[in-house]
Amino acid sequence: MKLICIGRNYTDHIAELENERPSDPVIFMKPDTAILLKKQPFFIPDFSDDIHHEVEVLVKIKKIGKHIQQKFAHKYYDEIGLGIDFTARDLQKQLKDKGLPWEKAKGFDGAAVIGNFFSKKAFPSVDDIEFRLEKNGSVVQQASTKLMLWKIDALIEYVSKYFTLKIGDIIFTGTPAGVGKVFPNDTLTGYLAEEQAFSIKVK
Ligand code: ZN
Repeated sequence: MKLICIGRNYTDHIAELENERPSDPVIFMKPDTAILLKKQPFFIPDFSDDIHHEVEVLVKIKKIGKHIQQKFAHKYYDEIGLGIDFTARDLQKQLKDKGLPWEKAKGFDGAAVIGNFFSKKAFPSVDDIEFRLEKNGSVVQQASTKLMLWKIDALIEYVSKYFTLKIGDIIFTGTPAGVGKVFPNDTLTGYLAEEQAFSIKVK
């Protein structure tokens, strides 16, 4: 399975990193080895002094597809989840400045937190799901999928032009504003609507 990640999908986050608003979705991948194993803490890697949390809504693909039209995209997923795209911001900045790919900054071991998934039927609309990340009990990121520049079905259409989607693939749909550094002993807890999707410890 593959993890397909979308960058710059919320205007307020584009502004906080002073990035340009893209004309097409920004796509990158994480390898499956980036998945943080269930119930394991996240260990800050020794190559970074600035690991950021990025809370993101996840979409789990349930059917193989390529060149999926937006109007049919809803047939390709039943479950919505929540996770974290951990990012070594210092390393990412160095790579961006040199015009190099981001993989080292985003695809390292443990950099993908995949929380619980919920049936999409649990939500009145997948295009208006509230979610938030709490760090040590305080809300640090909070948004709704209605604020996405490209909504879930549009992302599936766009991504599947380039990559065949397979059963079990997961799309990370981008982070809203409020990204920030994590420190040892932090606890990060994510909620999709009012359901807790994950709670992880940083070490
Ligand atoms: Zn991200």
